[in-house]
Amino acid sequence: MNRLDNESSFWMPFTDNRSFKANPRLLASAKDMHYFTPDGRAVLDGTSGLWCVNAGHGRPKIVEAIQKQAALLDYAPTFQLAHPLAFEFAQKVGALFPAGLDRVFFANSGSEAVDSALKIALAYQRAVGQGTRTRLIGRERGYHGVGFGGISVGGIPNNRRSFTLLPGVDHLPHTFNLEKSAFTRGQPEWGAHLADALESIVTLHGAETIAAVIVEPVAGSTGVMVPPKGYLERLREITTRHGILLIFDEVITAFGRVGAASATEYFGVMPDIITCAKGLTNATVPMGAAIASRKVHDAIIDGAGPGIEFFHGYTYSGHPLAAAAGLATLEVYREEGLFDRARALSPYWEERAHALRGAPHVIDIRNLGLMAAIELRPREGKPGARAMETFHRCFDEGFLVRITADTIALSPPLIIEKAQIDQLFDKIADVLKTIA
Ligand code: PLP
Repeated sequence: MNRLDNESSFWMPFTDNRSFKANPRLLASAKDMHYFTPDGRAVLDGTSGLWCVNAGHGRPKIVEAIQKQAALLDYAPTFQLAHPLAFEFAQKVGALFPAGLDRVFFANSGSEAVDSALKIALAYQRAVGQGTRTRLIGRERGYHGVGFGGISVGGIPNNRRSFTLLPGVDHLPHTFNLEKSAFTRGQPEWGAHLADALESIVTLHGAETIAAVIVEPVAGSTGVMVPPKGYLERLREITTRHGILLIFDEVITAFGRVGAASATEYFGVMPDIITCAKGLTNATVPMGAAIASRKVHDAIIDGAGPGIEFFHGYTYSGHPLAAAAGLATLEVYREEGLFDRARALSPYWEERAHALRGAPHVIDIRNLGLMAAIELRPREGKPGARAMETFHRCFDEGFLVRITADTIALSPPLIIEKAQIDQLFDKIADVLKTIA
């Protein structure tokens, strides 16, 4: 397809609609590590779609599970009714996270999972007699989806600017620092003290006003920012000391991305609530979840009077197709040992990523598990242009990378082979040589 009508009805999300429609790049099918364009060109998926197709594309077990479920039970409500798969899937999801974190509230996306988690935090504080705690703390450069809750605690100016935000929100500083941490492999040594900003926020507003802190354990969408050593531990210590709940937004990091079932497990720091989505169903059927600790769940459920304990839910919470897709996805992860595979591959991935040091325009490289970011020096007066050109050039030459501002972010399916890792980084190195 050469050109789409600018008036075409599809109003594309997070897209420069006019430029895209003037020069569309379409994907028509996918299998394992590759997308295929309508004219049959293979494109190596260096980003798992949008950080979500962790087991690779078109996996037969997942496809068959969805097909079978659609024929058996296409839809069933979960308000005052239910179907068995939702219970089975919740139990299996809960079992993947560290002990005590296993009460699963289903949503349909990461954004909804985040909204659900924020509401759970508020409901918890009210249930334990701390109803004055309504303030929510996010972090600069955090991305928590696009609900009003998510953009309010999120720290991306463009996502917030045009909208009315939740009141009573504050932000921690982000942890990105080129001077101190450029080209760090894994977790930076510098920056644990940035968590202490929470103490200042507590002093400023009073602990009795703060319900929860939400952070991505590894910030994904704004460019793979790995937490400094000791940072998450310190956040946990401060939140616990002040009766503040800690929410880890694991929409990107759960399901193998960091080389473990979750970043919670990888870092060994226990939050009170986890949000996830994306890899939960290998992105085949939309689904998200907020996973609460038993402490949080039991306080809300046991503390309520007769009747509905938590006034929140979605028509499609625990949707049968999503539950079936999710169960099959977890089986694929387990049968193929994909989380361990990601961990085993990560030193090779790190080596290949950091070999780009010295390539034209590269000012930083960051990595953890099977995630990496290559930070380019912005073109004078045209931020983002250099990365956008790199993205287009890579795509046209058969490689899908993701960009955010001037960062190239990579997060391939966990089934990637070493030879494909080589091809991906070789291609980026070649393309960077041709970019002004
Ligand atoms: N939270 C995080 C950490 C994310 O990375 C994302 C999406 O990338 C979201 C929430 C929002 O997820 P969704 O786009 O499914 O609403």
